[in-house]
Amino acid sequence: MTARDLLHLLVPPQCLVCRAPGHDLCGACRGALPWLVGARCARCGLPAPCGRPCPAALHAYAAAWAPLAHEGPARTLVTALKFRGAIAAADLLAAAIAATAPPGLLASATLVPVPAHPGRRRRRGYDHAGLLARRLARRTGAPVAAGALRRTGGRADHQLGAGRAERLAGTRLSVHARPGRLPSGGRVVLVDDVHTTGATLDACARALRQGGVPEVLAVTAVRALRGA
Ligand SMILES: [Zn+2]
Ligand SMILES: [Zn+2]
Repeated sequence: MTARDLLHLLVPPQCLVCRAPGHDLCGACRGALPWLVGARCARCGLPAPCGRPCPAALHAYAAAWAPLAHEGPARTLVTALKFRGAIAAADLLAAAIAATAPPGLLASATLVPVPAHPGRRRRRGYDHAGLLARRLARRTGAPVAAGALRRTGGRADHQLGAGRAERLAGTRLSVHARPGRLPSGGRVVLVDDVHTTGATLDACARALRQGGVPEVLAVTAVRALRGA
């Protein structure tokens, strides 16, 4: 019996979205997941055509990809991951990434989680991108370079309460690569929960490139389609 089986005996699983008893994600909510299908801009991850110019045209990551739109049950799963630290939510979102990522995207890459704002991490006691990266690594076998990036400054409510202009400005967000923790050679796949403007991914990719990483890609669990 695994620790998880034991936990389920004590606390029977319920749907993370609608709280129906039985499974971490019930059949109805699973069926309502907003999968992104059809042609996509490889650079910014939006459905193609993404815009002129591509919103990621000047960003430091070479490609971005997400399996789901930031809507409906996927949005609720991300909230569960972010605010409840739900391992089950991390597992479901990691499975969605691993099962649908374009061939080769995750091959021979090191996963680097987008670092949480230090204040936010202290308050909640966990790091949701790190959790997502570790669950993804379990499925793909890719190594994780946790702690390769350090974040200072930036608004704690960067993606949540801030308006579009503030998010775009990436207000005072500063990310530094830690040389000793960087993978030697090869490419890096940044891992985060939500891709909104790409400003955070850009700041992280920029730091990694400056640290000598030749190629940086990004995967997120969900892609925001509006306000992008
Ligand atoms: Zn449900
Ligand atoms: Zn694009």
